[in-house]
Amino acid sequence: MQIAQHTVATLEYTLTDDSGQVLDTSEGRAPLAYVHGTGSLIPGLEKELEGKASGDAFQIRVPPDMAYGERDEAIIQTVPRSQLPAEVEIEVGMQFQAESEHGMHVLTVMEVQGETVRMDPNHPLAGVSLNFDVKIVEVRAATSEEIEHRHVHGPEGHDH
Ligand code: ZN
Repeated sequence: MQIAQHTVATLEYTLTDDSGQVLDTSEGRAPLAYVHGTGSLIPGLEKELEGKASGDAFQIRVPPDMAYGERDEAIIQTVPRSQLPAEVEIEVGMQFQAESEHGMHVLTVMEVQGETVRMDPNHPLAGVSLNFDVKIVEVRAATSEEIEHRHVHGPEGHDH
């Protein structure tokens, strides 16, 4: 069976950046299962998976515009230190979750300047090309409930 709209594909993968650093991997845990065609993966990866079958293995490089987008320097914010939790010592690279009209997103501390903090709302992987090493483990038809929920049920997904 080939990966197509509303199939459930299970895959093993390792994600690295261009310097070879591993950003994410399914190694040592359960493979990733997803419902194809529901936008649950980054667009560049989902597109390449289309038509692949169980046993297929391949490597792809997904540019930022097909992954988490380009970095936007214009959205960097300078916020008063007092807006951040007082009990935490703020350090560069520290990440905070914030809620906006687009849902939850991550703000990364870029710089601490006295009473102000420069925060970067860009996705941590914005501007990064993603190198995927993928092996397809299984492809099956999604159930109507899985299509409706846009996620996988059963042993490889959640149960409810
Ligand atoms: Zn569900």
